[in-house]
Order: sequence, then C-alpha cells, then structure tokens
Amino acid sequence: MTVTYDHEVVIVGGGFSGIGAAIGLDRAGFGDYLMIEEGDGVGGAWHWNTYPGVAVDIPSFSYQFSFEQRATWSRVYAPGAELKAYAEHCMDKYDVRRRTRLNTKVIGARFDDEQHVWRLDTADGDTITARYVVGATGVLTQPKPPQIPGLEEFTGTVMHTARWDHDVDLSGKRVAIVGITCTAEAPVPMMTTRRPDRSTSWSQRAVCMTVPSKVSSPSMSGGLGWEKTPVAPTTNRAVTVRPSAVDISHRSASSSKAAPLISVFSWMRGRSP
Ligand SMILES: Cc1cc2nc3c(=O)[nH]c(=O)nc-3n(C[C@H](O)[C@H](O)[C@H](O)COP(=O)(O)OP(=O)(O)OC[C@H]3O[C@@H](n4cnc5c(N)ncnc54)[C@H](O)[C@@H]3O)c2cc1C
Repeated sequence: MTVTYDHEVVIVGGGFSGIGAAIGLDRAGFGDYLMIEEGDGVGGAWHWNTYPGVAVDIPSFSYQFSFEQRATWSRVYAPGAELKAYAEHCMDKYDVRRRTRLNTKVIGARFDDEQHVWRLDTADGDTITARYVVGATGVLTQPKPPQIPGLEEFTGTVMHTARWDHDVDLSGKRVAIVGITCTAEAPVPMMTTRRPDRSTSWSQRAVCMTVPSKVSSPSMSGGLGWEKTPVAPTTNRAVTVRPSAVDISHRSASSSKAAPLISVFSWMRGRSP
C-alpha cells in the first residue's frame, strides 16, 4: 500500500520546542516537515508576551539551544525581545521559515487507520495530512481570565499581560495589578516610575514568592530605589507600590491555595487616587 501525505512530519507550535524539533528533524534527515503556528510570529511565549519588563528568569546562557549558543546576551536574564529575536535568528539560520505556516490554528488531529496518515484540521478549514505529528503547543500562551465577580461590569480597561496592549497609555491612571509570579511583578517598575505621584495596587492571593529587593527599571540601567518590606510567606496581603516604599496592608482573601499563573491589569479612567 502506498501512503501519501502532504508532509512527512507536522509540528504543531512555533515556540522554542517547535523550532528545536524542526531543526532536530532536519538534522536527522526528516526535511519534509511543516511547522504550524497559530500566532503571526514564532517564539511562543516570547512572541505573545510583550509586557513591560518581560524577561527570562533563568540565566540566558542556559536558556538557549546547545547547538546555537549565543555569547552576546545583553543581560544574564535577557529581555523577552532578545529571546524573540533569537528565535527568529534560528528560523533563518536553520532554514525553518520556508517550512512554517503562521496564523494557522490546528483544531483537530485524528489518525486515519486505513490510509495510515494523520489528518490535521485547521481553523480555516484546511486538512493537512502527515505521517508523524509532533506536539509542541506549550502550556502557557493562552490567557486565563480570572473569575472575579463584577469584572464584566468594570468600566475601565482590563488587560492581560499575555496580550499587552501597547496602544494604552498608563500615564496618570490608577493601576491595579492582580496576580503573582515574575510576570505580575515585571511591569510594576514601569508603572511606578512613569507616574510616581499615582499609586499602583498589587493584589496577591498568597505572597509566597515576594522577597525584599531593589528592583531595576525596565531598561535595567539602574535600580529604582524602591524597597519591599519583607512579608510572611503564607499571609494573604495586598501590596501598594510607591516609588520610595511599598506599603503592605492586610486584606481579606477568599483562598490561600496555590497562586494562579495569571495577571490582570486594570485601571479606572479619570479617577484620582
Ligand atoms: C511570561 C512567561 C515567562 C516565562 N519565563 C520562563 C523562564 O524564565 N524560564 C523558563 O524556563 N521558562 C519560562 N517560561 C516557560 C515557557 O513556556 C518555556 O520556557 C518555553 O518557552 C516553552 O516553549 P514551547 O515551545 O514548549 O511552548 P510555547 O512557547 O508556549 O509555544 C507554543 C506555541 O504553540 C502555539 N500553539 C498552541 N496551540 C496551537 C494550535 N492548536 N495550533 C497552532 N499553534 C498552536 C502557540 O501559539 C505558541 O506559539 C515562561 C513562560 C511565560 C508565558
């Protein structure tokens, strides 16, 4: 029986995993692959996340492909834009781009037992067949809006870090940040330096990862000089951030379970703090 297919291998996802798989397949002699990416660019997490201060939080010399080591990272913890550029560089150097289809979401995959091929359905109605499928879809690129009662009635702008809207000017706005982790923390210096006379509220369900630190500015050219007061790791608290100090006040919190991997940014238009 002769098996026919569009591509020997289809890779679903154009993040670092997908790019690495593509390069590895090529080296192993599987040159007939197609990498399919839902977004309009590659890099995965580093394509979708462009919020101020986005950066890798493990040293860059270990967050790169072993076969494509870069010695020119601008910082130990490189900013997201550099990781995105590194992904684009790999696409060109290893000739992955011409075998990549962007703006294409795979919505179904089934194995055809009779034809011995995978059939992948895309959101735009195509069916692509392949002998092998590599799943490289990641787990952290889809924003998960929090279930906060009344959020839908909030008249200000609501934004998720994973889809940062660069057209929105935060100047003069009161900003509330909801969430924990590095992602929630990263934009805070930008907000506090841009309008030091306005407050930024940062709500965390469980302050389990916050430690005293001097935080660098978005450009990382120097410290901001604001400090964090040490907090007990298991206490639910809300934190108000100002350029010179961080006030921590007790607030009620409904749960002390594991912190969510989400951050929502919201602010009220035209209201004074
Ligand atoms: C903000 C942020 C910061 C992070 N920081 C670090 C860090 O400092 N250190 C660290 O080790 N890890 C970090 N991570 C984890 C990061 O996810 C991994 O390091 C790595 O980028 C995962 O790569 P990936 O290719 O497996 O997945 P992703 O980067 O998530 O890429 C998956 C790609 O698949 C695409 N895709 C998904 N489903 C489909 C579909 N059905 N059809 C077509 N395309 C699809 C997505 O659009 C995405 O582009 C961070 C993640 C985020 C979100």
